[in-house]
Amino acid sequence: MLKLITSESQISRCQSQLEKALESALPNKRRYTIGYHSGSMESPVRFNSKIWFSHTIVHSEDQRHWNAFGLSKDLATTKSNSIVVEINILHNGVNGRVAGAFAKDNKTGAVYLTHSGKIGGGKKGIGKNSFLKWYKKSTKNILNDKSKDVQAIVIGDISSATFSQNLNNFINNVKKYKSFVSEGEINEATVLTDKELEAKALATSSKRKSKKTKSSTTVYERNQYIVELAKRRAKGKCQLCQQKAPFKNKSGQPYLECHHIEWLSKGGLDSVENTVALCPNCHKKMHVLNLSTDINKLKHAKP
Ligand SMILES: [Zn+2]
Ligand SMILES: [Zn+2]
Repeated sequence: MLKLITSESQISRCQSQLEKALESALPNKRRYTIGYHSGSMESPVRFNSKIWFSHTIVHSEDQRHWNAFGLSKDLATTKSNSIVVEINILHNGVNGRVAGAFAKDNKTGAVYLTHSGKIGGGKKGIGKNSFLKWYKKSTKNILNDKSKDVQAIVIGDISSATFSQNLNNFINNVKKYKSFVSEGEINEATVLTDKELEAKALATSSKRKSKKTKSSTTVYERNQYIVELAKRRAKGKCQLCQQKAPFKNKSGQPYLECHHIEWLSKGGLDSVENTVALCPNCHKKMHVLNLSTDINKLKHAKP
């Protein structure tokens, strides 16, 4: 069992150990402009062919080691380089605002770098719980000093020879997760359990006509819980032709499109009852032909 390290002296020792490990794993050194949420700054960066690391101390309310990481293939001298993930460590103690921490395996004495799952991005759907759920396979329970279970991602043993590879995996996973979020493959709905999703979809299922948002063409607001529930209920098969989804999307889910049996543009409701999941072919067919036999089939295809 791992235990979070919270004493100032031990944290300081672990941080030095981390920096030393990264100095030897990331042999190249140069200054780059690094962008962060409210600006950019020139910083010394260490890197190998895969990942980069930059460190400074931030003096603020949460006095902390700022440990920023990114991918070397994206590094350039001509732009402000974006950070994939910060693994910041408080000088003293742990709190929910700062995601990084060290944890010790009391049996072996090994010190691990951990991340609470709180990653930035400023987009709905990016949040600690959603990221942890997606990352689940590699998260472990770790203990803090109050003997309370804390969920965190255990990135790797900082003195192990595979540490920079472990970090590389973590950074790439954060990057992948963020791109799934920005492409909409992961959102607030996709990370819910079936039970949670059903409750949320039913609670928000529309009983009135959809709101139109102002735009040059009419865009109807879609309820992502209903979209996700329709797809899950279809269990990977088109509800019209009954064939398996033709391919999987980037995050590995069967690709189906959500369709309103009675179109939103004709006053249909964005509700659980009015939604089905179709393969792209059948979806197009519904919009081109909208045959009453197909409409009837869909109305009865409901689980
Ligand atoms: Zn189909
Ligand atoms: Zn449609």
